Amino acid sequence: MHCPFCSHEETKVLESRIIEDAMRRRRECLKCSTRFTTYERALFNIAVIKRDGHQEQFEIAKLSSSIQKACAKSEPEVVSHLAQTLYRKILNKRTNPIKSSVIGSLVLAQLKKQDQMAYVRFATIHKKIEDTKHLEKELNLVTREQRVSSKLSE
Ligand SMILES: [Zn+2]
Repeated sequence: MHCPFCSHEETKVLESRIIEDAMRRRRECLKCSTRFTTYERALFNIAVIKRDGHQEQFEIAKLSSSIQKACAKSEPEVVSHLAQTLYRKILNKRTNPIKSSVIGSLVLAQLKKQDQMAYVRFATIHKKIEDTKHLEKELNLVTREQRVSSKLSE
């Protein structure tokens, strides 16, 4: 790692800390003594094939914001954790480029386990549930399951 100020090659690591998906290091240049920070992050570029056929680079921030829209009441940390989990699942598909519909299905499967109202909202936003009959069926399923779980907790 070169010092950004004097380009000297040797630096001393003062502190290492894992922050979300990155390793943050506080460094000090052994020549000019300037302190600076580096972030080490695993990069793996995934291309997403959209419904209209064009491709764009996968961005975890976009995934987070579409999950955030569905999980209206969820804490940002919950959404960020969910996005990280999904990112790992997307990587583990070992499919590159990957279709946006495959990502959508992964999101739906995860939301169904974690937050059923968010699941229905995400499905509606992304028009995964196209006919209203299907939507009604899903909503009934959610309310029925909620009734069962509230009965169990009584
Ligand atoms: Zn330096």
